[in-house]
Amino acid sequence: MNHQDYLVDSYGRRLSYLRLSLTELCNFRCIYCMPEEGVPVVPPSKYLTRDEILRFTKIIGRLGVHRIRLTGGEPLLREDILDIVRALKSIETVKELSLTTNASRLGPLVNSLKEAGLDRINISLDSLDPERFKEITLKDVYYEVLDATFSALRAGFPVKLNMVVLKGISDEEILEFAKMAYDFPLDVRFLEFMPLCGTGWKPEWVLPIEHVRQVIHQHFELTEEKNRKDDVAQNYMIHGGKGKIGLIASLTESFCDQCSRIRLSADGSLYPCLFSDKEVSVKDLLRSHASDEAIIEAIRYAASIKPKGNWFYENKFNEKESPIEQLQSHPMIRSIGG
Ligand code: SAM
Ligand code: SF4
Repeated sequence: MNHQDYLVDSYGRRLSYLRLSLTELCNFRCIYCMPEEGVPVVPPSKYLTRDEILRFTKIIGRLGVHRIRLTGGEPLLREDILDIVRALKSIETVKELSLTTNASRLGPLVNSLKEAGLDRINISLDSLDPERFKEITLKDVYYEVLDATFSALRAGFPVKLNMVVLKGISDEEILEFAKMAYDFPLDVRFLEFMPLCGTGWKPEWVLPIEHVRQVIHQHFELTEEKNRKDDVAQNYMIHGGKGKIGLIASLTESFCDQCSRIRLSADGSLYPCLFSDKEVSVKDLLRSHASDEAIIEAIRYAASIKPKGNWFYENKFNEKESPIEQLQSHPMIRSIGG
């Protein structure tokens, strides 16, 4: 493949990683993500079909986008999830197919997902206390999620456990989560809370990742992995432990200059950045059987409007002032994460 065939944005970043949302619907109502009433229910025809997703992925694969992550909403709510996984894995250009899930429906599906060819699973788990889990997700399924996590390990998946650290709500569990990485072959990743919520921006919930780093360092010996490549996490080996620790500082240590991502929403819009309100719809092109070239043009246009960085990258987080003061003025960004 010639360099000019790759998907490159206006700042020279090569985009090689597609976050593909399969639905906006979710069966959880995480207090930092989804309003209690959920997202509006729309006719299923609003969402791209399996065949449309397949065609789009083949086309973007020609531009060197080889890593695909299925997300949502909750991707396992899609009845055709196994068909989608199987179909995507049959595409030659797809080198890695992964899934981010709340794991409430994962247990019964895990072996079929493995057979269908899924490579990796990220599980969102924000508390190791069943009561707090319920307070955060508004769902009483802690044990199902924990069981599914171990089922995924037994099925042979590399598993990442994502915890959004909420100051004053779950930050006292940082060490418990680090211990999970010590005891089990899990990649435990701590995420800063970002203003993506459908539930209102609460800067007082933000705990800068440096605090997480210090707490873990006091109790565990960590060795940083130097080769970060296009991983958004800063990764650490945990001495004597079975798993790893990852720190994702989306706000206080923004990594926009390393970003290799582009996003496709469930209803067929390309978003060049999670924090951007710019979108380029490809649904109509797919539905009107437009040529591959027309779709490639839309994809290249979406890449060309990828911003240099998000608000936090541009405004460089100032460590001296309190995060709350700095983040107070920040506008809340559109919808549900992903
Ligand atoms: N429903 C699936 C899940 O929860 O894993 C996939 C979609 S969810 C939007 C993807 C990831 O985004 C989850 O790990 C979730 O914790 C994270 N997320 C959602 N809203 C967030 C926010 N405001 N700040 C930080 N992470 C957020
Ligand atoms: Fe659903 Fe995931 Fe948002 Fe929680 S974080 S409400 S599980 S989409």
